[in-house]
Amino acid sequence: MRKNNVVIVPAKCQHSGKMFGIRAERRNDGWHLNWAFELPEDEAAREKFDEDSISGRITIDSEYPGCPYCGGKGFVHCGKCGKLSCWDEEDTRFTCHYCGNTGLINCGAEEFGEIKAGDY
Ligand SMILES: [Zn+2]
Ligand SMILES: [Zn+2]
Repeated sequence: MRKNNVVIVPAKCQHSGKMFGIRAERRNDGWHLNWAFELPEDEAAREKFDEDSISGRITIDSEYPGCPYCGGKGFVHCGKCGKLSCWDEEDTRFTCHYCGNTGLINCGAEEFGEIKAGDY
């Protein structure tokens, strides 16, 4: 596995089902999410965003602009398929557009096992 200091984590918007990329930067205290951009699904497939992964402490930086489609600044990690979806920090239920999983959001989770990512 490559060890990149900046990776792009693919995610889907819970409201529109569209894909976007989250830029994650490795710092001493863990991963910081600081940018998000629209990412067409065919482009994501070309870039092979599942070759790398991030794990450990993940912080959403204050400059993080939020989901490019709905503006949601949070995100949820699907417990079933391990993919990310945006979260508007209000809904307590989420729907994963990758695997169709639905469930309640456990707030306050800052430690993640392993999230698939790739460089861009
Ligand atoms: Zn969204
Ligand atoms: Zn899922």
